Amino acid sequence: MPLFKSAPRLLGGRLSADFVNATPSNAELTWEHLVHFLESTSVVSAGRGAQLLSLPQSDPQAAEALLLKAQRLDSALRKVFAAMLRKQRIAGEWIEPLNNILRITEGHDELVSQAGIWKIEFVAREGGLDWLLAAVARSGAEIIAEGPRARLRLCANPHCGLFFYDNSRTRRRRWCSMAVCGNRSKVAAFARKHASARNAP
Ligand SMILES: [Zn+2]
Repeated sequence: MPLFKSAPRLLGGRLSADFVNATPSNAELTWEHLVHFLESTSVVSAGRGAQLLSLPQSDPQAAEALLLKAQRLDSALRKVFAAMLRKQRIAGEWIEPLNNILRITEGHDELVSQAGIWKIEFVAREGGLDWLLAAVARSGAEIIAEGPRARLRLCANPHCGLFFYDNSRTRRRRWCSMAVCGNRSKVAAFARKHASARNAP
């Protein structure tokens, strides 16, 4: 039986936003969700993902340690992003889980071509498992370092809760996805208008 009905929607525009979006705000990141996220964002291959799924059986300590770090990173990023959106101060204790991963991971930056666009990607030296979280931590750190210039947004649908980075040319993106939340809002507005027109004398 497949663990997941569908692939997570990667609408965040940045890896760290997608990472936070992968778990609802009231739920804790599980091992399966973590592995699925790493696989769907191509941090690991499908084969490596399958290996990782069985890690809690083969090496429970390693799996537990990584999951704990991932959960701390998840909760820290969520707090940081929420504070940035409210233009509030970012607490040092939220930064620690990020620095923790940035510190331990050894590796180097490399230019990688993605659909004709060159991007700087962190290539980690594969020692422990921490490198699996390196790209997420790096992506979060970049957004934080952008400070007030960061185009981090929360979807305008109050029931959605997804973060996204506004990469649009006009910088006026309001929805995580036009197809999902944007249309839903338009349909609701249309229904309201229609209902008030009908109820008018
Ligand atoms: Zn949305």
